Amino acid sequence: WTKDMVVVVTGANKGIGFELTRQLAKKGLTTVLTSRDEERGKEAVEVLKREGLDVAHHPLDVQSEDSARKFADWIKYTYGGLDILVNNAGVAKRAVNVENVDLVMQTNYFGVKNVTQALLPLFRPSSAGSRVVIVASRLGLLRLLNNKYRQELADREHLTEEKLDDFVKAYRDDVVNGTWEKGGWAERNTTYNVTKVAVNGYVTVLDRALRERPEGAKIYVNSFCPGFTKTDMTEGKGSEDIEGAVQTGLLLALHSPGGPSGKFWASGQEVGW
Ligand code: NDP
Repeated sequence: WTKDMVVVVTGANKGIGFELTRQLAKKGLTTVLTSRDEERGKEAVEVLKREGLDVAHHPLDVQSEDSARKFADWIKYTYGGLDILVNNAGVAKRAVNVENVDLVMQTNYFGVKNVTQALLPLFRPSSAGSRVVIVASRLGLLRLLNNKYRQELADREHLTEEKLDDFVKAYRDDVVNGTWEKGGWAERNTTYNVTKVAVNGYVTVLDRALRERPEGAKIYVNSFCPGFTKTDMTEGKGSEDIEGAVQTGLLLALHSPGGPSGKFWASGQEVGW
């Protein structure tokens, strides 16, 4: 891993994204810390600079197409392209209401797609191959779903973005109509679970779309669960500290050419969806 390789981490001003950025910078890659809030991002970069790490910053609000486009232009202009994208930015909201559903979906699912689509054309050919890593969750395991979508999404070879969009829309419709409990959605953190199921599904779809790329232009796509980790999202609760939580992500960002793609991972191992 050399300075020639460019890695981008979303939502990296704190928590798991910040630690991933720190560890990737320590490996010697050219590392870009992105944040929706410019000041918070710059402060985070200063912390890493004081540790002797060379990290760049650029604003990126994953919800915004305009922000993603501007960021992609900047990446192209500054580095000519990128090699590794870590989609980490995420939110969780406990109360089930339309406002929260829109926020969590726009960030955790549509935000991942937005940033990935904006940056995909900029992945550079390389013998090591490029990587898309998505920070998902065990709460996004299909087997936790309790309704017809468990069956409908299970056929991974025929899964499409449309099916995933329909799935999140069906959940939203049930929330709008006040029928989400009857709709058989999971009991706790419902919205969050649905978005993480959707991004785990997106890994499958994206991997299939990219699979035929020739040697030297491969893009490996995987998602992982960091475990229940002590961050602001969990109000400091958790069984994992942040250093341990990022290890599977590092493995997926830096695995050897010809490694895994289209899979969900946890604790350093592939886990069936
Ligand atoms: P934190 O709340 O500590 O960090 C979340 C990060 O996402 C922050 O930097 C936040 O920015 C950023 N973010 C939120 N919305 C946007 C947006 N629209 N655009 C750009 N950045 C945004 O949470 P964690 O570090 O715990 O979570 C990181 C990832 O790990 C998430 O995807 C989460 O779902 C996942 N995860 C976490 C687990 C845990 O136990 N902690 C378990 C399983 C998965 P800001 O500071 O501006 O709010």
